[in-house]
Amino acid sequence: MAKCVLVSGGAGFIGSHVTVELIEAGYDVVVADNMSNCDMTCFEGVQKIIGRKLPFEKVDFCDAVATDKLFSDYKIDAVIHFAAFKAVGESVEKPVRYYKNNLGSFLNVLEAASAHGCHNVLFSSSATVYGEPDKVPVTEETPRKPATSPYGATKQMCEDILNDVVKATAGTEGEIRGILLRYFNPIGAHPSALIGELPRGVPNNLVPFITQTAIGKRACLSIFGDDYPTPDGTCQRDYIDIVDLAQAHVYAVRRMLDGKMEKGCEVYNIGTGRPVSVLELVNAFEKVNGLKLNYKFAPRRAGDVTAIWADPSLANKVLGWTAKRSVEDTLASAWAWEKHIAGK
Ligand code: UDP
Repeated sequence: MAKCVLVSGGAGFIGSHVTVELIEAGYDVVVADNMSNCDMTCFEGVQKIIGRKLPFEKVDFCDAVATDKLFSDYKIDAVIHFAAFKAVGESVEKPVRYYKNNLGSFLNVLEAASAHGCHNVLFSSSATVYGEPDKVPVTEETPRKPATSPYGATKQMCEDILNDVVKATAGTEGEIRGILLRYFNPIGAHPSALIGELPRGVPNNLVPFITQTAIGKRACLSIFGDDYPTPDGTCQRDYIDIVDLAQAHVYAVRRMLDGKMEKGCEVYNIGTGRPVSVLELVNAFEKVNGLKLNYKFAPRRAGDVTAIWADPSLANKVLGWTAKRSVEDTLASAWAWEKHIAGK
């Protein structure tokens, strides 16, 4: 019988891509989401891609009773936890809302998983835990830096909580094994253009801002800072294709479910290992899609790190996963998705 994976926050950008890859790898999936930050577009897109209906549960993971019920209603073998608020700026303005939601929901998931014999928990962490690193690329051993926003703090706290729960439950009936995936910058969309990122309001992230500018929803992209100590003066990041990133979850879940883990809690960087500057990304977008983007240089954005990219060799070696898609293919997929949602 196929193993069943619960994807919390599964109607969102990353969750929907992960759902598709899990189904294609032969897992059963239950998608649960409180729909606080998305509509059903991506969930419906997932069902179109896989060609069938999927179980969907509208659940707020801050509700302990509803979370527990979900684990009684389904025999869940592993849970991938995405359900969280993710806007850095908003988290600075509304810290209580962020701590309550991001920590509360994860605690409920851990409690219910442990109580119902679901031993495998994968947490979606972020390269934000490294802050401004002293050395690049960063490995999983690179020290974490103090978080610069409540959002970043919730990622670090959830990492610590999972580590503590793994230690405390080791050898018990409610044993939890954990995997933390630290994502770099996920971009792009599924090649079908049926699922992708749907930012509400003005996008904070670079690629949605680029595609919305190209389609005419925004007048002009501001490139934040041209005086960074990098080769062309703009910040460098590790942009990872969303489908590549989604596939990393399949490798990680398989490792957990096949009993291959060597430690109770394992951590992996999910990136390409390739630094790309903002200007390089803009130029690549223009070239691959054959268009000109309206952009200007603007002052630095508060809180941005100069340069960060992954050393993904641990994930490559231990999980057997590598990022395969070129940044050009990924930017073409992002543009195809923007045109799809614009109905063009
Ligand atoms: N960026 C930019 N203009 C924008 C949005 C982002 O120049 O409208 C830059 C930002 O300064 C950073 C990079 O693009 O150097 C990636 O930003 P994003 O918000 O996508 O991800 P982050 O690395 O901050 O998580």
